[in-house]
Amino acid sequence: MYNPEDIVPTPVAEHELLDTEYPIMEHFYTIQGEGAHTGKAAYFIRTAGCDVGCWWCDVKDSWEEEVHPRLTVRELVVAVESSKAEIVVITGGEPLLHNLEALTTCLKNIGVQTHIETSGSSPISGTLDWVTLSPKRFKKPVEEIYPFVDELKVVVLTKKDLAWAEEHAAKCPPDTRLLLQPEWETAKAMPLIVDYVKQHPKWGISLQTHKYLNVP
Ligand code: SF4
Repeated sequence: MYNPEDIVPTPVAEHELLDTEYPIMEHFYTIQGEGAHTGKAAYFIRTAGCDVGCWWCDVKDSWEEEVHPRLTVRELVVAVESSKAEIVVITGGEPLLHNLEALTTCLKNIGVQTHIETSGSSPISGTLDWVTLSPKRFKKPVEEIYPFVDELKVVVLTKKDLAWAEEHAAKCPPDTRLLLQPEWETAKAMPLIVDYVKQHPKWGISLQTHKYLNVP
């Protein structure tokens, strides 16, 4: 678990944290469809802005930060509180383009678990209970993120992505949950992944089950 209090004290008044703004593409209550927490109810906050640029990205609308509204932490906390969410997933875009300390501190103050899904293209920030690293070839993760990873999720299109996945796994803590996920549009890699997981059972398969459930 990443806890920045181990590194730097943050004596900032809560009202200042609540007034902090983030560019937000969307936020909604749904079911987590991917990874170790698949099937759990979760409130998703999708920040705007991404510096990675994957050609197969299914949220390209998130890339341009300026076209999205800026919401305060207060507005986001109220929205989360009015749901029954016990988990908040901060995703993007690339959420670590923004310092997440204000948002995650206030979410922890209302008692929810804070999860993040990141490519790791920027240094980690905030108080996070679960870090999912999904590395992308277009901009590699910063080295300092690996010790904080709880789950490594690698999108696979071709065989060379499997070797690349192993390179990242070697840098993560030994108890990291290791997952391979087929690229959604073609899913051509599925037989490759099934065979690989059978031969290397430390890995599991992540499916985008929210797309089967037809929820956002
Ligand atoms: S890192 Fe995520 S949001 Fe950014 S381009 Fe890649 S898939 Fe899209």
